[in-house]
Amino acid sequence: MAEKRSILIVGGGTAGWLTAAYLARFLALGRNPHLDIAVLESPEIGTIGVGEGAFPTIRATLQFLGIDEARFVRATTATFKQGIRFNDWLHAPHDGGRHSYLHPFEAPLYADGAGLVPYWLLQDEATRPPFAEAVTIQNRVAEGRRGPKRLGEEAFGGPLSYAYHFDAHRLGEVLAERAVELGVRHIADTFDAVALTADGQIDHVATRAHGRLTADLFVDCTGLRAGLIGGALGEPLHSVREHLFVDRAVACKVPYARPDAPLESVTIATAHEAGWTWDIGLAGARGIGTVYSSMHLSDDRASDILQAYVGRDVPIEPRILSFEPGYRARSWIGNCVAVGLAAGFLEPLESTGLVLIEAAVAMIAELFPHNGPIDGPSARYNRLMSGRFETIVNFLKLHYCLSQRPESFWRDHADPTSIPPALAELLAQWRYRPPNRFDFTLDLESFAFFNYQYILYGMRFRTELARGRDEYPLGEEAERLFARIRAFGEHAVADLPLHRALIDEFVRAART
Ligand code: FAD
Repeated sequence: MAEKRSILIVGGGTAGWLTAAYLARFLALGRNPHLDIAVLESPEIGTIGVGEGAFPTIRATLQFLGIDEARFVRATTATFKQGIRFNDWLHAPHDGGRHSYLHPFEAPLYADGAGLVPYWLLQDEATRPPFAEAVTIQNRVAEGRRGPKRLGEEAFGGPLSYAYHFDAHRLGEVLAERAVELGVRHIADTFDAVALTADGQIDHVATRAHGRLTADLFVDCTGLRAGLIGGALGEPLHSVREHLFVDRAVACKVPYARPDAPLESVTIATAHEAGWTWDIGLAGARGIGTVYSSMHLSDDRASDILQAYVGRDVPIEPRILSFEPGYRARSWIGNCVAVGLAAGFLEPLESTGLVLIEAAVAMIAELFPHNGPIDGPSARYNRLMSGRFETIVNFLKLHYCLSQRPESFWRDHADPTSIPPALAELLAQWRYRPPNRFDFTLDLESFAFFNYQYILYGMRFRTELARGRDEYPLGEEAERLFARIRAFGEHAVADLPLHRALIDEFVRAART
């Protein structure tokens, strides 16, 4: 017979409400009289209010929660994200020329037993098409500002992989609404103190209007404040600043010139002298922000870079955010587990904030001890979460360390002493073969080998296969597949709706 268990989620941002809804659904809260789940959310302390891009894992998460896709798109002013276009990461723009590459979500085509990557590597560098254009149709679809699917196709599915861009506040609201439907109690109050037991566990949080709140498991979702795990339990943040330097962002919202302005279906990430600028097309406005390293750039210069990006004549109200890139090596201690920014944050690149929340919540749900010590899974959980943070550090670092830009931020990133040893080892091997699945341990990875391939070859990394050319005898077959991808791509661009039209259709469908 299960013991009574209570879970208090402290904090109601994306992390708090996603944790609440996921656990309620996974642990069948509505049918489980032994379980109580509540969210304590401060009406005074706001959420961070950024985090507008996701990774394709979000589709399975929303579907699992039982959220309707069209209603989600309408409620969060969402658009479809098919990847990230990186501008100027290899070189700064010069003589009117500019380097740009796409990291699409769709894996390279693998057909008839033939992987195309070696055959692309063996083609003439001077004349071959860019990697993403050669191996998937998604490049053409996204660059043609087409949606990844048609209305009426299965919810959360379609011919091409995708994620969303959304308004961060509204995402929180949608998740909160769903969590409450699933039986989660909402406590609107602020806690001012956390009391510990003699053996260092959390005894209660002391709130202003609801007195002392106790629970079997406290989930710290208080954002960068980390009021429980950091404040009360004193677990330090393990900084990764030696590898990743970005620690600030200045963000704003910019309206479209016209309500029917064309919509990008990718996040645009444009490098600058000491970081990069995100440009996210939501249905009603663009979310734009410049990310930078305070060691390499002043706040004033960053705001100026943002203003120049947006256009000198466009009024903006920039908001500066700062964070230490890092994570807590122990995010589950005793009866407290931290999720979201409280557990750690590396930087906005590749939307790993939400990815890490999804990973944490799925693990907590699977490992949740219905009986026995509540901290039973903590050691394993901490190993898995730390490992996941570390692999993401490697993946993010890959984006920076291959740059040939001359500014000190980029030179510092290319400095071999700043490259994590595990990544350096892989880079050494990838000089002679492309990344493959055996390079990674699945339970620790948020990204697959092909995500690494898109970054490596987008950044013109050289994998030397020519001496082993004889090992690749299916050249003609591969050429036929490359031609098929080109033809399918053109067909898909003609066939799929414009992204703006698709969003309008989704919004109309949600109204009916
Ligand atoms: P918050 O949103 O800060 O929520 C904290 C909650 O705790 C609030 O509800 C607050 O009221 C509550 N709280 C705090 N103190 C108390 C108290 N004393 N009493 C009661 N309640 C309290 N992630 C992505 O996936 N994609 C992105 O594109 C992306 N971009 C980002 C850009 C920047 C510049 C930054 C900084 C982050 C970005 N992230 C991104 C990360 C993303 O924003 C977060 O992972 C996500 O929003 C989750 O935040 P959170 O819920 O942990 O914290």
